[in-house]
Amino acid sequence: MELGIFEGIGVGNNSAWGKTVVIARPKFPASTKSALDPAEETKRLREAIAVVSLQLEATAYSVDDQSAEILRALQLMVQDSALLAEAEREILSGWTSETSIQKAMEIFTESLSGIPTFEDRISDLEDLALRVVGVLSNTPWTLELPAVGPIVVVAEDLSPSETALFTDAVVAVITSGGGPTSHTAIICRQKNIPALVAVKDALQIGNGVGIIVDAAYGMATLSDVSVEFDAKQTIRIPKGSLLVPVRGNIGNVQDAKALAKTQASGVGLMRTEFMFLSRNTAPTISEQTELYVEILEAAPLGEFIFRTFDSASDKPLVFLEINPSEVLENQLQAISNSQKTVGRNVSVMAPMLSSLSEVRDFEKQARASGITNVGVMVETVALAGAISELEGVVDFVSIGTNDLSRDLFQADRANPNLASLTDPWQPDLLQMIQRIVSQATLAGIAAGVCGEAAADPLLAIVLAGLGVQSLSMAAPAVGQAIEYLSSVTMDEAKAVASSALQGKNVLEAKQLALAALPN
Ligand code: PEP
Ligand code: MG
Repeated sequence: MELGIFEGIGVGNNSAWGKTVVIARPKFPASTKSALDPAEETKRLREAIAVVSLQLEATAYSVDDQSAEILRALQLMVQDSALLAEAEREILSGWTSETSIQKAMEIFTESLSGIPTFEDRISDLEDLALRVVGVLSNTPWTLELPAVGPIVVVAEDLSPSETALFTDAVVAVITSGGGPTSHTAIICRQKNIPALVAVKDALQIGNGVGIIVDAAYGMATLSDVSVEFDAKQTIRIPKGSLLVPVRGNIGNVQDAKALAKTQASGVGLMRTEFMFLSRNTAPTISEQTELYVEILEAAPLGEFIFRTFDSASDKPLVFLEINPSEVLENQLQAISNSQKTVGRNVSVMAPMLSSLSEVRDFEKQARASGITNVGVMVETVALAGAISELEGVVDFVSIGTNDLSRDLFQADRANPNLASLTDPWQPDLLQMIQRIVSQATLAGIAAGVCGEAAADPLLAIVLAGLGVQSLSMAAPAVGQAIEYLSSVTMDEAKAVASSALQGKNVLEAKQLALAALPN
C-alpha cells in the first residue's frame, strides 16, 4: 500500500470526496451462565426482542419506502418464533439471554452460510442479535450517522439494515469485506454512490479523515482538500430507445412482486431451487405448479425464463441427488402446467451443463413436456467452447457470468480474497462472452446474460455492444441499467465494447470503456 492510497474493487463508475465515519460493530459479550430462574430470563429476552421490534418499526417510518421494507423484514426476522424457540432452549440450558440469543443466531447462520443469496441474511441476523444484546445490557446499539455530510462510510461489511439508514449525506462507502456482487455493492450501485469493496486495509483508515473514493479506478486516496465531483457526469441522459430488453432475476414470489415495481420486461432467470433448499424430499408436481402459478401472476409481463433446479455445493438440494431424472421430469411438468393455468408462454433453461449430449437430452425432455422455448445456461468453460454445436438444438443461451468466471479462473465465488478474479470486467471473461455471442449469432441462437455482470450499468453497455441480446439482473439494478442502455446508440455501445476489450486488466477495461462513452 502506497501511503494514503487504498486499493479495492470499485463498484460504480463515479467518484466522491467526504469525511470518513468508521462503523465498528460491537463485539458479543463472553458466554455467561445465568443466575436467574429460566422463566425470568425468558421474560427478559422477550421484552428485549419486543423493544428491538418497536425500534425497527419506528425507524421504518422515517426512511424511504425501500429502506422501510428492509426494516420491516428485519422486524419479522427478530420476531421469528423459531429463533425465539432456539434461544429459549439455550436459556433452559442455563445461559443468560445475551448468550442465548447469540447462540440461537449462530445456529441459524451456520445453516445459511455459504449460500450466496443468504449471506445478507447472516449479517442481518448478527445485526439483530447485537441489537437485542444492546437492549439487554442497557447499551443500545444502533447505527447513528451524522446528519450532515459528505460522509464516507468505512466498515468491515454492511448489513442491509445498516445501508437502509443511509441518507443523502453518505456519498461513498469503503469496506474490507464483500465482493462485487455483495449486498453493499448492489445497494451502492442502486443509490449511484461509489463504493470500494474488498479493501484489505480499510479499517486502518481513521475516523473523520478526508478521502476521495474513486470507484472507476478502484482506489481511495486520503485528501484533506474537499473536491467537488460533478454528479451529473455519471447520470446518463436518455437519448433514444433501450438497446436491449432488461429482465429480472428472481427466486420467489416476493422477488417477483418487487420486480413488478421496476421497468423490467419479464424475468430472465427464475432460480427455482431457492424455494426448496431446506427440503429433504422433492416437492410434488402440484405443490410446484401452485407456486409457479403464483410467481407467474406476480411477475412483470414479458419473457419468463424458468431455470430448472440448480444444485451446487453452496446450495445443495438433497432430494435432487436421489432420483435426478424423475425430479426433472416432474419439474418440467409443473412448469408446463403453470403456463397453461396462467395462459402465459414461458421458457425453460437448464443450468451447469457442459456437453452437447446433456443439452440434447434436456431439450428433448423439455419440449416433450410442452414447453416450446428451450435454452441452456452457458456457465461452464466446456459448453462455452461448444456453442456452434447447439445449432438447431436450443432456442437461446443465457450466459451465467458468476459461474463462468468461477470456472474460468478456478475462483470460489464467496471468497473475498478472490474477488478480483470474479470481477466481471476481467478481459478474459469479456473475450469469452464475445466468442459465445458471435458463435450463437452464427448458429441462429439468441444470447443473453443473467449473471451479476449485467447489474453493472457500464458493463451492461459493453455487453450490448458485444452483441448480447438481453440482460437480466436483480431488481435494484434494473432502473439504472435501463437508464444507461437508453443513453447510447448501438454504434456507441459497440465502440465502448471494443475499447473495453483492449484492456489488459480489470481496471484498464473499465477505464477504456468509460473513456469511450460519448459525452
Ligand atoms: C451465474 O452463475 O451467473 C448465474 C446466474 O447462476 P447462479 O448465480 O444462480 O449460480
Ligand atoms: Mg450459476
